Amino acid sequence: MKGIEQPSRINEEAIRKLRSGKHKPMSVEDFVLGIREGNRTILSKAITLIESSLHTHKEKAQEIIAQCLNSIRHPAGSIRIGITGVPGVGKSTFIEAIGKYLTANGHKLAVLAIDPSSSRSKGSILGDKTRMEELANDPNAYIRPSPAAGSLGGVARKTMESIILCEAAGFDVIFVETVGVGQSETAVHSMVDFFLLLMLSGAGDELQGIKRGIIEMADAIFINKADGDNIGKAEMARREYSNAIHLFPASTNGWTPEVGTCSSQTREGIIRVWEVIQAFTKITRENGAFARRRMEQDRQVLFDTIEEALKSQFFARKDIVHQLKILETEVVEGRISPYLAANMLLGKFNSGNVK
Ligand code: GDP
Repeated sequence: MKGIEQPSRINEEAIRKLRSGKHKPMSVEDFVLGIREGNRTILSKAITLIESSLHTHKEKAQEIIAQCLNSIRHPAGSIRIGITGVPGVGKSTFIEAIGKYLTANGHKLAVLAIDPSSSRSKGSILGDKTRMEELANDPNAYIRPSPAAGSLGGVARKTMESIILCEAAGFDVIFVETVGVGQSETAVHSMVDFFLLLMLSGAGDELQGIKRGIIEMADAIFINKADGDNIGKAEMARREYSNAIHLFPASTNGWTPEVGTCSSQTREGIIRVWEVIQAFTKITRENGAFARRRMEQDRQVLFDTIEEALKSQFFARKDIVHQLKILETEVVEGRISPYLAANMLLGKFNSGNVK
């Protein structure tokens, strides 16, 4: 090897980092400061902590969230908007179109996704480059891929916590996109102020996998792809949904759901969607429904968190799980009543906890 310069066996960069103390893990204060400054790299790292299954990460994330809860960045407050619709309805194209309009008008937009069912590319649906390419490069937009598949409750909690961090980082418009069809809509509805349903014309509700309950949850329905030959059909669908929606019982928040048409391709109707959201915000903020909805959501989170924590504590006890297996067989074979078995296990759990 004579005459050939040998690479150093010592990693100079690592030594430099060690000396400068840069290898030190970031403290909670570092995170909070970075988030409040709107540092997107630090925001992403904090969301990664939220998504981590490591206990130490989870604890750190909770401290960061607690501190971020106290930092209200926008006196006017943020708006959390849920966007749903079947795959292919045009959600990402729509988010890109309205998102660029919003950032051009002084807003800071964060886009999060809920996709508990995802097996596609480990849930990183929003992560692939072709989706929302322009928005992804917009300094006033932040796009976070959906957390890897998990239970719906878990994914919903992580999204809720990510919303808090995004707001602390100065994002005043938060989009939560549901990628799946089915239960995830209910989860998104429980964490947003405004729920937007995008639909296609010329396909029945069933074909679009839209259940009646979802239509009832919507604060606005927009028939997307209202362009070219589709304009007439979209208008017809708009009238049908408009009639259908008036048959539902009036909501208690003083808002009548709006039905419209839009096209992300021609941009027709996109600004209208934002105007509708603003009208909704104005009315519900004035009559108190906006604040009530958030309070109700927080109350629900409180109960859900307790329920989830108790369950996981219960099933984390090896002695309980062991006895559960035995009792399960006895219950199935009809030798003991399920209530008695449950009470025995709960008694064991409680006495075990008192110790
Ligand atoms: P998503 O699965 O709901 O996110 O849908 P995408 O945004 O990926 O859009 C699905 C397809 O519909 C793509 O091929 C888009 O180019 C097309 N598309 C989206 N919005 C519109 C629109 O407003 N008009 C028309 N004609 N096509 C659209």
